[in-house]
Amino acid sequence: MKTILITGGAGFIGSHVVREFVLNYPTIKIINLDALTYAGNLENLKDIEGHSNYEFVKADITDAKHILDIFEKYQPDGVIHLAAESHVDRSITNPLEFVMTNVIGTVNLLNAAKEIWKDNFEGKRFHHVSTDEVFGALGDEGFFTEETSYDPHSPYSASKASSDHFVCAYHDTYGLPIVLTNCSNNYGPNHFPEKLIPLCIHNILNNNPLPIYGDGKYTRDWLFVIDHAKAIDLVFHEGKNGGSYNVGGFNEWKNIDLVKELCKQMDEKLGKEAGTSEQLITFVKDRPGHDLRYAIDATKINHELGWKPSVTFEQGLSKTIDWFLENQEWLDNVTSGDYQKYYNTQYN
Ligand code: NAD
Repeated sequence: MKTILITGGAGFIGSHVVREFVLNYPTIKIINLDALTYAGNLENLKDIEGHSNYEFVKADITDAKHILDIFEKYQPDGVIHLAAESHVDRSITNPLEFVMTNVIGTVNLLNAAKEIWKDNFEGKRFHHVSTDEVFGALGDEGFFTEETSYDPHSPYSASKASSDHFVCAYHDTYGLPIVLTNCSNNYGPNHFPEKLIPLCIHNILNNNPLPIYGDGKYTRDWLFVIDHAKAIDLVFHEGKNGGSYNVGGFNEWKNIDLVKELCKQMDEKLGKEAGTSEQLITFVKDRPGHDLRYAIDATKINHELGWKPSVTFEQGLSKTIDWFLENQEWLDNVTSGDYQKYYNTQYN
């Protein structure tokens, strides 16, 4: 049996990737390696817990020795690396944590893969999952392509850019077989409510203000998380060795318009009068170094591998809201305790 080790599989995107692989490849052993930080939650995977090709291993990728022991024990043929500190606002208050996990943690994984694969790279692959934020900010026009120069602005994007460079350097220097994906903003089930969409769903349910940075004109491309998981599956299996692929939804929204669309759908689903939730919108002090616009050109993955998003934004958003309404216990669990402290320092 082949073995694939997925890092960060208890997080938002990672849990969808783990599910995609466990269900689609029953003859491949899937190891989910995760430290279970505030963002990791095994509840995200309770439906696949009993599958014979699935195993969870608790480990911190900053612990080089433990990581090498795990690689030696399980001898993975492939690695899909999603474990990261992922929230820009937290990177502004604690950059070093982002350097430790996103940079040092990634290098520890690269070293472990290089060590156990050293005699033979045939059939091996290290897939690094990254973000479009490494490319910096766009003006009103243009798109990020795979050739766009890196120009990260936040400590989060700087740490992800650094990890991307290390992954490519291990390919160029040691011949490590790698692929890289840079994706736009994801949304969907299991999204941690520090991020815009689940935060607004949670606040509408609790009749709390919907905080919007600056004038709300910041523009992002949004992709339904299950479409991202499918793109990762495709690139992991069919992407060119050493290649990078941009993944995006062809779906740009200004934050304010997105939140208004969310309010409209929430009012309909909750049976409230149109316009009720919009009244909760509150503009708050801008995030320092905020990038104006991100937009992905996903032509390469479309032409080379035939990938495209399966749902429109309105459909994906509707599925997402339905999931949160059906899983309010999940939302209550992750928003108790430390979340409240974080929220109060951020918005109050
Ligand atoms: P997330 O914060 O929801 O999950 C991160 C996971 O990594 C958690 O399960 C956490 O426990 C684990 N983790 C954190 N530090 C760890 C450590 N030191 N050792 C082991 N595990 C650790 O993140 P996400 O939104 O699912 O993002 C996953 C990956 O995708 C990240 O690399 C992120 O940069 C990238 N990405 C995210 C988006 C997005 O919109 N969320 C877009 C593009 C790329």
